[in-house]
Amino acid sequence: TRFHDLDLPAELMHAIADQRFEYCSPIQAQSLPHSLNGHDLVGKAQTGTGKTAAFLVTIIDDLLKHPLQEDRFAGEARALIIAPTRELAMQIADDSRVLTKYTGLETHVLVGGMDYAKQQRRLQDTLVDILVATPGRLLDFCGNKDVYLDQLEVLVIDEADRMLDMGFIPQVRRIIRQTPRKSHRQTLLFSATITPDVVNLAEQWTEDAVTVEI
Ligand code: AMP
Repeated sequence: TRFHDLDLPAELMHAIADQRFEYCSPIQAQSLPHSLNGHDLVGKAQTGTGKTAAFLVTIIDDLLKHPLQEDRFAGEARALIIAPTRELAMQIADDSRVLTKYTGLETHVLVGGMDYAKQQRRLQDTLVDILVATPGRLLDFCGNKDVYLDQLEVLVIDEADRMLDMGFIPQVRRIIRQTPRKSHRQTLLFSATITPDVVNLAEQWTEDAVTVEI
């Protein structure tokens, strides 16, 4: 599959071309036909397979194709990617900024171990199109009403198996409880391994999900 065959918005195609991506990687070729149609997805894919672009392309396509509501509040996120570590969240945010370069969509990142006030100032009075976050820091922002997830359109849970290993599931659960119910959002869950525990989370958090494995 070539990116050209996927009917993506021109602003997104332009950024993909800048990256010199022409052919979809296997995880992209298997997941994009479903995720671009709005289906929930459970993807078994490791780092290095192009899974980040798979979910970012899905998000960017969705946000560009659905018109913005005029009356959005500052701090209301349209898409959320939850990642287990600061390094991964920052890498995803970098990739998101590259792919949204021509779109006007704003990417924000909220991670622990960095200055809260600084992250808070950056969020003030801006619309949050794509939010990338680690669980603990995101819960702090939600609790302080600096970020709102009730209008979320797309939710991505990246590296679900590592979230389990790191004991983050209770926090992730509290975050997901603040998002629209699963029939009113699109949920993509990625994991390097699909253990029974991961299957269990996928059953709770996704609806009629397509499972892709590479
Ligand atoms: P990831 O698995 O998301 O960490 O991506 C691994 C690397 O593959 C990143 O450096 C991407 O820039 C690159 N990449 C992702 N998709 C493609 C593609 N379709 N063609 C070539 N490189 C890609």
